[in-house]
Amino acid sequence: MKRKRYSVKELFYTIQGEGFHAGRPAVFCRFAGCNLWSGCEEDRAEAVCSFCDTDFVGIDGLGGGRYTAEEMAQQVRSLWPADASEPIFVVLTGGEPMLQLTQELVDALKALPAEISIETNGTIAIDIEGIDWITVSPKAGAPLRQRSGNELKLVYPQEGLDPQSLEHLAFEHYYLQPMDGPELKRNMHMVVEYCKRRPKWKVSLQTHKWMGIP
Ligand code: SF4
Repeated sequence: MKRKRYSVKELFYTIQGEGFHAGRPAVFCRFAGCNLWSGCEEDRAEAVCSFCDTDFVGIDGLGGGRYTAEEMAQQVRSLWPADASEPIFVVLTGGEPMLQLTQELVDALKALPAEISIETNGTIAIDIEGIDWITVSPKAGAPLRQRSGNELKLVYPQEGLDPQSLEHLAFEHYYLQPMDGPELKRNMHMVVEYCKRRPKWKVSLQTHKWMGIP
């Protein structure tokens, strides 16, 4: 039987920059492709996420390629310090990782062993066992089908998406992250003011950008 291959834009060892696990060493698996933007600049204006700051097109990034589940697990293993007693912390991201993720791949990573975190836009419900940490980043204008998890991280502001409308969902942590771009300073101020007004929310900053790491 032909083995499934996963299209991976990049696979690298770094520090998680955002959200609850900010500051934590992690192996990032960035899957190629997303269902909310083609990744082509000529389509950006029409995309659900016209603010997207991620290159998820193709398999030509650092450590990118087309891997079987076993090959991907071995790549992840090879990046983690061999003498570390901590389980490998893997962040499955994209693009949209749920377009490709399977139980087979999660099982291969768990066997390393690894602690598995996923960052998803929430448009596809997660029906896979063994994921240790679910981060959902809802997008205005896109359906939200994954309505529970550990962390809800909302890029703010997004026209037509009031954070308050998400507060009833089943997440442990609620983060607002200022939208990057020319309005970053204003957005940072808006995030601070919103969190002060509704303390259910915490501020998430993209610290990897300040550190100059991927
Ligand atoms: S869901 Fe994420 S990766 Fe996909 S287009 Fe939106 S911001 Fe970019």
